[in-house]
Amino acid sequence: MATIPGVLGPIDTAELGFTLMHEHVLIANWAMRQSFADYVDVPRFVDAAAAELRGAREHGVRSMVDLTPINLGRDIHVIRAVAERSGVQIVAATGFYWTEEPWMEAWDHDTLLRYLLRDIGEGIQGTAIRAGIIKCATDRHGVTDLNRKILEISARAHRRTGVPISTHTSVAHHTGLAQQDVFEREGVDLSRVVIGHCGDSVDLDYLEKILRRGSTIGMDRFGVDVILPTKQRVDTIVELCKRGYAGQMVLSHDASCHIDWFPREVIRKAVPNWNFLHISDDVVPALREGGVPEAQIRQMTVDNPRRIFERQGAY
Ligand SMILES: [Zn+2]
Repeated sequence: MATIPGVLGPIDTAELGFTLMHEHVLIANWAMRQSFADYVDVPRFVDAAAAELRGAREHGVRSMVDLTPINLGRDIHVIRAVAERSGVQIVAATGFYWTEEPWMEAWDHDTLLRYLLRDIGEGIQGTAIRAGIIKCATDRHGVTDLNRKILEISARAHRRTGVPISTHTSVAHHTGLAQQDVFEREGVDLSRVVIGHCGDSVDLDYLEKILRRGSTIGMDRFGVDVILPTKQRVDTIVELCKRGYAGQMVLSHDASCHIDWFPREVIRKAVPNWNFLHISDDVVPALREGGVPEAQIRQMTVDNPRRIFERQGAY
């Protein structure tokens, strides 16, 4: 039996079940929350978020990876409360986002690495809840000097602990390949890495380049139709399954119960399918209709998440 750290204690990987590999409970700026107590009404938020995740559970979701990095307002107390009250198993992340902040320049590799190792080895924010995955991100600016440092410490934390890496990329800038280059130089086995947001692309050439190097790709923004509609996201997966890559894809929405980047009404109007039910309700049936065999759907939703977490050493 293999276990991984869940927010409510160890999770037997055999019990992960249908797993959404890239979601967020809460994204809200820490400085705003610290300065203005009502910036997030936590009790109200936890009520609403728990109800939303209970809904996802009723539609088959057993586990969810919360890929919120430290500097997007990751709050382990809120994540734990939502896990407790929803019955969805949640795995929390450590790591830093792609946005560059002055303090990041100040600290060298080892100093920043120590924080990631503390999250993984001891627990997050003074709790005993350990991070089960390492998040890092490279966006439109590509691998800058500072971004390289963040990718390198993520790689080193992975190599020290065996905890898998899952990333944010910009498909327009092909940053998935650039991330793989950095990880490879750091000696990372690329099959332990999920290159995220690949589902935003219909460029099969780009996606196959990533896949041929062994990584899993995150088809993980279902419902964000303003970037790419569901139909095209599904067609890409159908084609990649035909080409033999079902064992290297995972599905998710990159949705949040609350994100302070957009007013809720705007989200509801612009991207009505951007919620935790879209894959269960719409995407899986569409994949079936596209001819993806049941066994491959299971691979993408159950077996691949399990394998990504399972293949790690003791830590
Ligand atoms: Zn995300």
